[in-house]
Amino acid sequence: MKRVLQLVFLFAIVLTAGCTAIDAVTGRQTRNFYSLDQDVGLGTQVYEQTIEEMHARGVPVNEDQARVAQLQQMVNRIGAVSDLPNLPYEVTLIQTNIVNAMAAPGGKIMVYEGLWDPKDGLARDEDEIAAIIAHEIAHVNCRHSTEAMTRQMLPNALFLGASIFAQAKEQDELAAALGGAFVLYNGIWVTRYSRADEMEADSVGLMYMAEAGYDPRAALRIWERASQQRTGNDPADSIFSTHPSDSMRLTNLRARLPEAMKIYQSR
Ligand SMILES: [Zn+2]
Repeated sequence: MKRVLQLVFLFAIVLTAGCTAIDAVTGRQTRNFYSLDQDVGLGTQVYEQTIEEMHARGVPVNEDQARVAQLQQMVNRIGAVSDLPNLPYEVTLIQTNIVNAMAAPGGKIMVYEGLWDPKDGLARDEDEIAAIIAHEIAHVNCRHSTEAMTRQMLPNALFLGASIFAQAKEQDELAAALGGAFVLYNGIWVTRYSRADEMEADSVGLMYMAEAGYDPRAALRIWERASQQRTGNDPADSIFSTHPSDSMRLTNLRARLPEAMKIYQSR
């Protein structure tokens, strides 16, 4: 029994001590249990599973090759000016009418065709799509997914510790207790980023798009439109659910716009 408790404490110490990293965007220390390579590995794995799932459901993926080439060029341009320019940035076009774009850790970006319509879409021109891609690339650079996963690990470790304790008490068998599924994370794509993460991705993305030569005023148009287009009971996989737009986000973007315009105009 003592051995079990020792293991749990050891695990908690490893979790809290072994996860400091330097944030490439801010230069500050952050907590991330994963290495950048693991971000790429994890993201690639989730990405491949998602493509498989789309194929299984008969959803066309990357069939509009002209559009994929255009999106990939945008991703390359914005990725190149980001803080982590060497990540393997890759965009995939999912051809359904869902209005969303997502990023997996490490640089895999998914754009849904429904995001874009020149007449009445959320994004209506290239600058507006760039605003969304830049926001997603900012999430990748800030490593928000694996940071969020790291934040969830300690509660999970304590939960695991408690269940090991309970089960080991019953059967005094550590191996059986450890056999239970320890699911660290199950929603890498549709991460519920915190509001702070969203605002950081807005600010960082605004500078990235300006630096890449896209008009940063498009970001304000997009998120203003998003706040008007959301209905309150939007599907869970839409951008309106995964990126709740509120006045704080718009205030933050307006405050950052002059700095971004300076970057944009000095290019
Ligand atoms: Zn976001």
